[in-house]
Amino acid sequence: MLNIVLFGPPGAGKGTQSQKLIEEFGLTHISTGDLFRKHLGEGTELGKKARAFMDEGRLVPDQLVIDMVDDRLREENNLQGIIFDGFPRTIPQAKALDELLNQKETPITGMIALSVPDDELIARIVERGKTSGRADDQDKAKIATRLQVYQTETLPVATYYETQGRYELIDGVGSIDNIYERIKEAVARLQNIAG
Ligand code: AMP
Repeated sequence: MLNIVLFGPPGAGKGTQSQKLIEEFGLTHISTGDLFRKHLGEGTELGKKARAFMDEGRLVPDQLVIDMVDDRLREENNLQGIIFDGFPRTIPQAKALDELLNQKETPITGMIALSVPDDELIARIVERGKTSGRADDQDKAKIATRLQVYQTETLPVATYYETQGRYELIDGVGSIDNIYERIKEAVARLQNIAG
């Protein structure tokens, strides 16, 4: 099985590259941002709890995120593997994910992190905001908050995987196809390490 955490700041291209990995490797896509937007759209209790955090560009509390992923994993039995997009975003989430996957005896193969400079990220998010309909993509202050939250709360998650020797940092600037080639090379390296 190939279980990948696709990591990077907002606007790094995680969603775009996930789609390509899914097609090629037959993986399941678990994006916590997409799951929350679905809850918001359906007006569920979870959606109501998450809305204020999302509107401000802040992280939804860990336990809500972890319970949602737990539920999602329970209904999942894709033997090819899973790509986690936008999750884990904190150390407690990373630890919880390891525990959830231990129960399924299918550990994370590794993290692939996309590196993109802030000015490029802001340009991409603003461009996406023209069509995504996402309020958090259309407001400069919210974008700034999200980038700040990434630096302070989410970046330590990279170290969590790096110290365990299951981490690949990829240059996330260039054409979609070029970046995807780099990701595929990283996948191969992680698979070698995982044996
Ligand atoms: P995304 O689509 O991944 O950029 O997520 C959009 C918003 O959903 C984020 O700004 C957070 O408010 C919330 N969110 C998504 N994933 C997580 C997560 N793993 N932990 C906490 N909040 C999250």
